Amino acid sequence: MDAKKVLEDLKRRFPNEPEYHQAVEEVLGTIEEEYNKHPEFEKANLIERLCIPDRIYQFRVTWMDDKGQIQTNMGYRVQHNNVIGPYKGGLRFHSFVNLGILKFLAFEQTFKNSLTTLPMGGAKGGSDFSPRGKSNAEVMRFCQAFMLELSRHIGPDIDVPAGDIGVGGREVGYMFGMYKKLTREFSGVLTEKGLEFGGSLIRPEATGYGNVYFLKEMLKTKGMDLKGKSVLISGSGNVAQYTAEKVLQLGGKVLTMSDSDGYIYDPDGIDRAKLDYIMELKNLYRGRIREYAEKYGCKYVAGARPWREKADIALPSATQNEINGDEARQLVANGIFAVSEGANMPSTPEAIRVFQEAKILYAPGKAANAGGVSVSGLEMSQNSERLAWTSEEVDARLHAIMENIHQNCVKYGKESDGYINYVKGANVAGFMKVAKAMMAQGIV
Ligand code: NDP
Repeated sequence: MDAKKVLEDLKRRFPNEPEYHQAVEEVLGTIEEEYNKHPEFEKANLIERLCIPDRIYQFRVTWMDDKGQIQTNMGYRVQHNNVIGPYKGGLRFHSFVNLGILKFLAFEQTFKNSLTTLPMGGAKGGSDFSPRGKSNAEVMRFCQAFMLELSRHIGPDIDVPAGDIGVGGREVGYMFGMYKKLTREFSGVLTEKGLEFGGSLIRPEATGYGNVYFLKEMLKTKGMDLKGKSVLISGSGNVAQYTAEKVLQLGGKVLTMSDSDGYIYDPDGIDRAKLDYIMELKNLYRGRIREYAEKYGCKYVAGARPWREKADIALPSATQNEINGDEARQLVANGIFAVSEGANMPSTPEAIRVFQEAKILYAPGKAANAGGVSVSGLEMSQNSERLAWTSEEVDARLHAIMENIHQNCVKYGKESDGYINYVKGANVAGFMKVAKAMMAQGIV
């Protein structure tokens, strides 16, 4: 494979999609050596087939706001690859959503889902609609209008969406209701459903918990654990909240959380009661993280990210490209020894280089945040069985899956000096399974 040429071709054919190019470049750079050991892959033009999504749906979503005005948004579903199972991946509702971002997420999802050991292909979708500042009735009308179109392209054995930024239990519930109405079918077509209608215990917690389980495994390789360690978390949504919860349970101290307006720094640590306040603030009142600083009298920094603060561990849990090279250098200079990504692609390529050159523990999102989609996979299994497992059972499976992903990263990512390159490990392990399945299924 000539990775440079493949990438240049993609940039020429799909210009103006920088996040997609970034994700492809990161993967190609690490799998090239393994890929070249298999001349049959090159003969089948496997890499190009794997980089370009199977298909993409784009549609207009029209809905009425509370003032009676008609609004339009764009809707998308990128079905990237389904060689190892039905398409699976979240829906993102955020004003910055565009096709390039969803293509990067769907591409990453394919490798991530492969790593989970469960039979799931990769997809991603969403809209440039933002639930922020909208009434509940507006969110419902939008979700229904969105599902009116999306329902044509999904199904429990075809494509099973879930949540992501801006899509939580409320939005999934409204979309599920509309799908059911349109198809007259009660099925596991979406995951992250409410517990009363087929959702799985531990699904809301899964991404955050899973990331901390992965971190625990990384720390173990250095004979360490989380007790007494100080932690920077970005974001204050689903992933950030349950990351903080698990860090607290394992004896760590959470110093920061953030939203798109700024971050709070609490030198005493965000304890259980304060975290409950954040969950209520964000999930019920849909307020801003600034209000935490007003309530507890701690520092709030507007328009900034928490990476200039001193701590032992960083767990980025907000969005892509939220740690740049300078911030990574500052983190390393401040003594950070582990970074584990709850968000998808939060570190820029330069930041990743800084972490790896400093030889700190660094886990990419596709390995570390795979717990969310793993429990979504378990939700699909429970829906097929028409059974619900206990939280202990789901949590134990999640734990085992994260350990397994960690082992696979070590297997494929250990370098000659003993440093574990988790990026390479995750990419090669995820890629090999998809590649073998593609070869077995012929040119389709
Ligand atoms: P939520 O919508 O619940 O929370 C997102 C958080 O990130 C909010 O605090 C939000 O702030 C903040 N944020 C969003 N965009 C930006 C931005 N451009 N700059 C700064 N802050 C921002 O989403 P999730 O917690 O579900 O997702 C967070 C990350 O984790 C995403 O990268 C997602 O792809 C990834 N992920 C999520 C999984 C899941 O199961 N939910 C699974 C695997 C990965 P505000 O409230 O101001 O918008």
